[in-house]
Amino acid sequence: MIKFLDLQKVNLQHQEEIENKLLSVFRSGWYLLGSEVKSFETNLASYIGSKYALGVANGLDALRLIFRAYIELGVMKAGDEVLVPANTYIASVLALSDNGLVPVFVEPDANTYNIDISKIEEKISPKTKAILVVHLQGRIVFSEELKNIAQKHQLKIVEDNAQAIGAEWSGIKSGNLGDAAGFSFYPGKNLGALGDAGAVTTNDKELFDTIRAIANYGSNQKYVNIYKGLNSRLDEIQAAVLDVKLKYIGHENGTRRKIAKRLISEINNPKILLPENPADENEHVWHVFVVRTEKRDEFQAYLTEKGIQTIIHYPIPPHKQEAYKEYSDLSFPITEKMHDEVLSLPISSVLEEEEIQAIIKAVNEF
Ligand SMILES: *Cc1c(COP(=O)(O)O)cnc(C)c1O
Repeated sequence: MIKFLDLQKVNLQHQEEIENKLLSVFRSGWYLLGSEVKSFETNLASYIGSKYALGVANGLDALRLIFRAYIELGVMKAGDEVLVPANTYIASVLALSDNGLVPVFVEPDANTYNIDISKIEEKISPKTKAILVVHLQGRIVFSEELKNIAQKHQLKIVEDNAQAIGAEWSGIKSGNLGDAAGFSFYPGKNLGALGDAGAVTTNDKELFDTIRAIANYGSNQKYVNIYKGLNSRLDEIQAAVLDVKLKYIGHENGTRRKIAKRLISEINNPKILLPENPADENEHVWHVFVVRTEKRDEFQAYLTEKGIQTIIHYPIPPHKQEAYKEYSDLSFPITEKMHDEVLSLPISSVLEEEEIQAIIKAVNEF
């Protein structure tokens, strides 16, 4: 069987280095807020090009904390609106509603799957305070136009960079394009921990200090609490593993790019709509390789039969979820059609040549 993502194989590529680190943290007797987190934060900031990086418990927390900090700083308040793509993983939206912010959904571009920048301005109201851009599937969404809109309306740009670590726009890495960014190191992400982990990057010192305090019980001095905070910390073991894997992310993303290029050039089934390779290939790190077909369920069953594991990212858009029934009357036809048609094929740095060939052959014969 061709696994959608063979995580064991991914991590065993660095077995010796990771096992040594795990053992050394275990033996150190120091498990939180120590040198491993510090080292990873320094290396992550340097990789992204941002002034600051802060390890947190997971990607959802990274995003929640950014908006919570903006609220504590008086930049936003409950009831304010944040523009967010209608087709995203639910976590992007949860980060807003958890803070009492109102998500205002914007349709995606049918070719890139990312927020359609040309549809942003019509959604801006006097209550709009930010645009939460999601670099979905590992593809950056950014442009001069987006920057200008944000500037003109004095909106913060927050990046949901859970899927696109290492992607670059005009030589700038995702996570350093807007005012702040949230990262997820969920095991299946391009840079994955051995459990939950996340980070925030920013160049804003005040925001950074505020998030650091909120994530640590609202305290920046032991037993002195300035915010009603939470506990959201990256632990030493996860940081140590991530620090090892961060060194290889460029290479890992390069391998994904090569595989994506092959799939795009060698799959030639008119029933299957392939993703677009951006003109500047650095803009994409291929977290997932999403194809579309009206016969999606039939196609998935066929691939399963052929021993090829696939996943639907995602079957139900946020505004159609039970959790957000207040938005169920809204209509986003591009988003809804995508959710009915998308299927993610396996793509990871550990796919073997025969597996790539088998995927291409099976898709072409459907
Ligand atoms: C994975 C993901 C998140 C959430 O990250 P967790 O670490 O699982 O909390 C947020 N947004 C997007 C787009 C994601 O893919």
